[in-house]
Amino acid sequence: MKATIVGAGPAGLLLAHYLLARDYRVEIYDRRPDPRTIDLDQRRSFPISLQERGRSALKGIPGLEDAIASHSVFCKGTVMHSKKGDRDIPRKNEVMTVDRNQLVLTLLEQLTAKYAQPELTIRFDCVCDRIDDQQQTVGFQTAEGEDFSVRYDRLIGADGARSQVRDQLSTRYGLSSELNYVPDAYKSIFLARKKPEQGVEFAPDRIHATNLGKDCRIILAPLPGDVLHGAFIFAGPNPLATFTTKEEVLDYFETNIPTFRSVLSTEEAEALLQRPTARLLTVKCEQFHYGDRILLIGDAAHAVSPSIGQGCNSALQDIAIINRLLDRYQDDWAQAIAQFSKERVTDAHALIALSDYSFPRSKRLIPEFLLRLKLGRKLNRWFPQWFKPFVFDLVLDSDMSYSEILELSQGWINKVKRSNERLNQRLAFSNEGATD
Ligand SMILES: Cc1cc2nc3c(=O)[nH]c(=O)nc-3n(C[C@H](O)[C@H](O)[C@H](O)COP(=O)(O)OP(=O)(O)OC[C@H]3O[C@@H](n4cnc5c(N)ncnc54)[C@H](O)[C@@H]3O)c2cc1C
Repeated sequence: MKATIVGAGPAGLLLAHYLLARDYRVEIYDRRPDPRTIDLDQRRSFPISLQERGRSALKGIPGLEDAIASHSVFCKGTVMHSKKGDRDIPRKNEVMTVDRNQLVLTLLEQLTAKYAQPELTIRFDCVCDRIDDQQQTVGFQTAEGEDFSVRYDRLIGADGARSQVRDQLSTRYGLSSELNYVPDAYKSIFLARKKPEQGVEFAPDRIHATNLGKDCRIILAPLPGDVLHGAFIFAGPNPLATFTTKEEVLDYFETNIPTFRSVLSTEEAEALLQRPTARLLTVKCEQFHYGDRILLIGDAAHAVSPSIGQGCNSALQDIAIINRLLDRYQDDWAQAIAQFSKERVTDAHALIALSDYSFPRSKRLIPEFLLRLKLGRKLNRWFPQWFKPFVFDLVLDSDMSYSEILELSQGWINKVKRSNERLNQRLAFSNEGATD
């Protein structure tokens, strides 16, 4: 059987691994350049934390998790930094943290080390812009103006939150989908992990986070090479938008979070001014398949806010579920993809709520959040049969389904939702200059 995958991100590439292992022929098309031939584009990259949900899907392909682990750092908690001091929040299970572009490059290198034509064909620099399910064709445009179509047996839309495959299914074939911008926008940011001459060193096994005034935060992960890489996230006007010089950026950090200022270089301050701002989307679909042949996976099917780091974990988990269903239905796609929608849609919808409302935006609710986290851990340790851990720990440290977690945490989620909605109404949201 031949599978045509649009999108060579984490979901598309992991699916290719699994389908090739099942003796499919696989064709992959992606709009970006081949990551093996260019420097990794740092402007739009960010660290991805993978827990057991995502990692168990990688483990299904021998050697894959180890290959990714060799480019990763393992973190055992988060340090919240503030001018008043640091607060360490340890985790039970460590998370594997890897740069997004490095993750994709490793998945691709591992794939091409094992497979070649005719089983595997990959074409970069081509943008999918149409599908025709009657003719079973999918069409692409290249930057050079070439226009070509290929015939598909099975078509998989793994082309991210702004999926063209999903768009075509919605506009031409009536698939019900809803896109929403979350209030957050972000810029990638790179800091040094240590500055010995100033006596500054950030723990190598922790995520580092700080709230910078109202509606603005930085989340950083240590990556190999003593770098802290992450996202400068703001809900509302970009706080750097009015700055024109690197000195203004340095002053902003000095005023708001001096510890981070000490590891911010002047080059990075300059680069931060120029770097594009990206906006974030959530995607809610009523089903993830169309007919007997077309499937949506990963962000194309269910993009979520990155606030609790589940987008990639759930995208990789999709692939393990599809593989299980192909086993169960002996590669009968009609049954397997219909069942995938049946099993996964409720969970994906639950994940949107968990991602939007597990963590409060209101400073007023932060102490309650920390108290619930602490109490949840204590009570669960003493009386595991009666008390489940708090929502964050259930998402990050358990393999409970997202819908079960939502059900257990509904009281807290509703409270944060009400509070966030009040804040959002007050936010005169403007992200002029933000790009998609
Ligand atoms: C700041 C930030 C931090 C994050 N942190 C985490 C985290 O800690 N943990 C976590 O689990 N998740 C995290 N995520 C989410 C994670 O990045 C995504 O969920 C994950 O990348 C989804 O993988 P994907 O393969 O479905 O889509 P993508 O990674 O978006 O890949 C889609 C691919 O499709 C290609 N494509 C798009 N359109 C077309 C087209 N028309 N034609 C051809 N090709 C096309 C793109 O070039 C791309 O290669 C974070 C996201 C952000 C923004």
